[in-house]
Amino acid sequence: MNFIGWTYDIAREQSPGEDRLHDLVWRSSDAGYGAMGLYLEHRFAYPSVPWAAAPGCLTQKAVRRLGETGRQAGVRLIPFLNTLGHMEGFIRSEGGAWLAEGTREGVLQLCPSREDCVSFALNLVDDAMDAFGDEWVHLGGDEAYQLGECPRCAERAESIGKEGLYAEFFGRLCRHVIERGRRPCLWGDMLIRFPAAMEGIPRETVIFDWHYEGVSPVTAPMFRKRGFDVVSCPAIRSYDSGWCFLDETRRVIDAHAEEAGRSGAEGVCVCSWEFFGFSPFSSVLPVIMAAGRRISGGADWAAALEEEGGAAWARAAEALGSRIPGMSKFLAPGAMRSLRGRLALRSDPFGLWRDWRRVNTEEEPFEILDACEEALRDLEEESPLRFPLGFGWIAAWR
Ligand SMILES: [Zn+2]
Repeated sequence: MNFIGWTYDIAREQSPGEDRLHDLVWRSSDAGYGAMGLYLEHRFAYPSVPWAAAPGCLTQKAVRRLGETGRQAGVRLIPFLNTLGHMEGFIRSEGGAWLAEGTREGVLQLCPSREDCVSFALNLVDDAMDAFGDEWVHLGGDEAYQLGECPRCAERAESIGKEGLYAEFFGRLCRHVIERGRRPCLWGDMLIRFPAAMEGIPRETVIFDWHYEGVSPVTAPMFRKRGFDVVSCPAIRSYDSGWCFLDETRRVIDAHAEEAGRSGAEGVCVCSWEFFGFSPFSSVLPVIMAAGRRISGGADWAAALEEEGGAAWARAAEALGSRIPGMSKFLAPGAMRSLRGRLALRSDPFGLWRDWRRVNTEEEPFEILDACEEALRDLEEESPLRFPLGFGWIAAWR
């Protein structure tokens, strides 16, 4: 496998210090990763966008120093931007409302038809390329669901279609990256939705084919047939769980590693998202690193988790990530989006209480409490797992 990487979402409620990032580079190397991606959105100090650079965001100087550590450690440092969808960090910053695709409340997307918006995106890419030395520059491109909403885009979509809007915008950005001697990367989901858009995307582009609940047997071969290099992308399932769905995480990562070999993909990128609410980054990090050991060296999952997190953490992680979701309907896979959405995203405890009442459970609270007790027994006082374990208690007693 040519590529084994992972991504750290520093755009959502993260402000890692520089020392912490250098440590992560070395730890990635130890775990067998050859690349670490930083998902930036508005949390990078783009010189072209001084109004969005809030305190604690990553600077160009810090990135250059980090790149140097990466070269020593054999870990590529790759910028993961977003330039069309998921621009909410910019749009909601003071001075960024003009970027929005239309005036609807909650719009997350930039308008691809206005030249000032395209220039804005090109400047972000230039700023990132000035700091990150890696050949690959990830331009994002996922979940651009508001394509064609503003009057200008709606009118243009009548002749060229939403796929035309997408292809025109990203075709231009990708060519810009190639002209600077680098390779652009894009998430694959919108190209799967609008296959005709691929006609406008240069073949030097690397497609990150993400499927977080399993693998697709058709998408990677489809991209490869069209001449693209592909990276197969599973995720750490913490973004929709009470802590991290450990069984699903292990299953989907193994499936992607296997599929990457079968389809001739460049490799695997383990995505991790949204470290807020119930999944503090430090509590999940051993899972990310264990995945590196698993993919790069075929390590046994249980041994890798214990090596990365220690014996007490690994026992608690099994309880919290595997046993408790199996005992509680409210904490099972598929159910947590409501808890996370209500409490963490919308800050609505009353909505959470209503959702809880809707979940009809006949579960045995003492089983869940026993599992929590067992997990807590040897856990260090400062362990970040103590916080999500509290939700196991709440789920048992509600
Ligand atoms: Zn528009």
